[in-house]
Amino acid sequence: SAKEVINKVYQEVKNSEKKLSEQEKGKVADYIPELAAANPEYFAISIANINGGIESIGDFNVPFSIQSISKPFIYGLALKDHQNNSKFSVDDRVGLNATGHAFNSIVSITEKEDHKQNPMVNAGAIQVTSYLKEGAERDKWKHALNYMNSLSDGKAFLGEKVYRSESATNQNNQKIANMLFDFKMIDENPMDALDRYTKACSIMVTTKQLALMGATLANGGLNPVSKKRILSNSQVINILSQMVVSGLYENSGAWWTEVGLPTKSGVAGGLLAVYPHKYAIAVFSPRLDKAGNSVRGQAVIKKISQMYNLHLLH
Ligand code: GLU
Repeated sequence: SAKEVINKVYQEVKNSEKKLSEQEKGKVADYIPELAAANPEYFAISIANINGGIESIGDFNVPFSIQSISKPFIYGLALKDHQNNSKFSVDDRVGLNATGHAFNSIVSITEKEDHKQNPMVNAGAIQVTSYLKEGAERDKWKHALNYMNSLSDGKAFLGEKVYRSESATNQNNQKIANMLFDFKMIDENPMDALDRYTKACSIMVTTKQLALMGATLANGGLNPVSKKRILSNSQVINILSQMVVSGLYENSGAWWTEVGLPTKSGVAGGLLAVYPHKYAIAVFSPRLDKAGNSVRGQAVIKKISQMYNLHLLH
């Protein structure tokens, strides 16, 4: 059963970690002060299937900031907001290709003539948050939070501490946002777009909620618990494709080759992998490798993929 699988993998990953050097075990993100304060030992796994079943082990009730795992979902919302607008293509404006650079790279924006990145790296994601519509709330941020909640159980919330901490220290992202404005990639005040992006990254979730958000993608955009259609099938294909192309930043190619599942990481230690038409696996463990991906998270997903031959090209 799913419960047995995650219990086993949880123990195995903990045990095999004893052989690792401190460097191999990874380090908690330290460029955002509030993240540096995280307990490095937190460890949780949840699996949610397309019938609404969820199994979890470890610290699955501990909320952590979703960080970059918001990116594929917010990209989905931008697609949805513009689905009836034939004059505006989110994909054309943002770009869909791998950058080969770190997630927060400035160089990669200037080196390309058209400046286009993709919605999984900071530049593209800030662009995407700028393209959201106001929605019924007449406020782009509230519209985004409502949507994020509709993908799960409605209990995600803004982590004020992380949000304030990141807002006070995100000079690099400010540069990115200003460049996007200079290059006419966004039209509004770039600090407004960045603020919305930072809030989206500061949404607090548990692995249970994150797994359910992933199960909504696995289920073609239909939330398996609320039974509401949140995204269309084709929007989900775009989202999952971008997770393949750039979900683990500059390690995405190696990850895809080895694991073969669309996956997205966040610097607070979350990792979400989707096995289409079946289930999603969410892991939380704050220690990260050099590229910014959870070390235990990767070990868990890798093991499950190998045990059950989940590679989508298998
Ligand atoms: N909010 C983080 C940043 O912009 C997200 C990075 C991540 O999770 O990879 O730096």
